[in-house]
Amino acid sequence: MRRKLVVGNWKMHGNRAANAELLAALLAARPYMADVAVCVPALFLHETAATLAGSDLRWGAQDVSEHEQGAYTGEISAAMLAECGCRYAIVGHSERRAYHGESDALVARKAQAALARGVTPIVCVGETLAERDGGQTEAVVKRQLSAVIHQLTHCAAEMVVAYEPVWAIGTGRTATPEQAQQVHAVLRAQLQAATGRGATMTILYGGSVKADNAATLFAQPDIDGGLIGGASLKAADFIAICRAAT
Ligand code: PEP
Repeated sequence: MRRKLVVGNWKMHGNRAANAELLAALLAARPYMADVAVCVPALFLHETAATLAGSDLRWGAQDVSEHEQGAYTGEISAAMLAECGCRYAIVGHSERRAYHGESDALVARKAQAALARGVTPIVCVGETLAERDGGQTEAVVKRQLSAVIHQLTHCAAEMVVAYEPVWAIGTGRTATPEQAQQVHAVLRAQLQAATGRGATMTILYGGSVKADNAATLFAQPDIDGGLIGGASLKAADFIAICRAAT
């Protein structure tokens, strides 16, 4: 039986006062039946770690460098994230693929860099609306995942995968539970074929998950929780989504 996981992706939102309030509310609402994590802007990682240390809430970053260390101005290494107690690093979010030109190969190297330091990569895959309309959904997500599987080789079963259809992110338009389940089943079969451990791996859904649609999405057999953007910034909404994951 896979335990559900709900991860908040704060993106480039927050400030010290608002973060403190949000984290206090998340702590006060425990216990959850699922694992719960927040992926915060890097500048807030230390404070988040200090606030959540000793609790069962987890934290992580929204990106990681492919490099170990060196002259890479502006980059943050997996070792630095690990030192900050990060459990997770999101890699390959569609916003980074679109706005920073991240390729499948780069995403795969980032996932490897994270794992090498004991930080679990949350590998995002997902098709654009044009790709869905063109009947390419399966081919696109399989290609994106395949790059990571081949880079991680024997460690591939250690990653978390997040299916995030690009057309559903921040748009208010959610994939139907059936649409999401269909893609999750494809991804799980691919993971099973590659690692032999697909049945135990965590595959999250992300894309306009809200308090009122979370339970139905999370009830699908291959959906193991969610990667939550906008709704993770409001304590009541995020807590309701975490409670929907049982
Ligand atoms: C995300 O940014 O990963 C995301 C799923 O955003 P939203 O929930 O706002 O669609």
